[in-house]
Amino acid sequence: MYRLAPLALAFAMAPAFGADCSTTIDSNDAMRFDRDLIEISAQCEQFTLTLTHSGSLPVAAMGHNWVLAEESDIPAVAADAVAAGASAGYLAADDERVIAHTRMLGGGETDSVTFDVALLDADGEYGFFCSFPGHSALMRGRVVLVD
Ligand code: ZN
Repeated sequence: MYRLAPLALAFAMAPAFGADCSTTIDSNDAMRFDRDLIEISAQCEQFTLTLTHSGSLPVAAMGHNWVLAEESDIPAVAADAVAAGASAGYLAADDERVIAHTRMLGGGETDSVTFDVALLDADGEYGFFCSFPGHSALMRGRVVLVD
């Protein structure tokens, strides 16, 4: 029992130090994110999402952003984003349904966004998508709050 004690202590402490409050997701010229699930620890006060675009096409042809919203809001947010047009970065200005978003990227670019985890409700259903016209059908995923 004596020899197990340090290991047990390490496990007990793991959650406090184990919460990773940032992550990176990549997008590409094939109109894909490299992940369809992002888990956010409820222990994080803030979470930072970094979007990379590993392709080479310009933003006008293959733009990608990362937009976080409630699942039920995403179809309308995506439609309004297309209507907002290229000059608005394909996202309606001050859309209150948008919880967080990066800017629209072209190939080789990177952007990060940091947001308060308290904006996410444990019972809520959240998703992320790219709001470039025609992309949200393929470029979609879930965001889940975990302990
Ligand atoms: Zn896109």
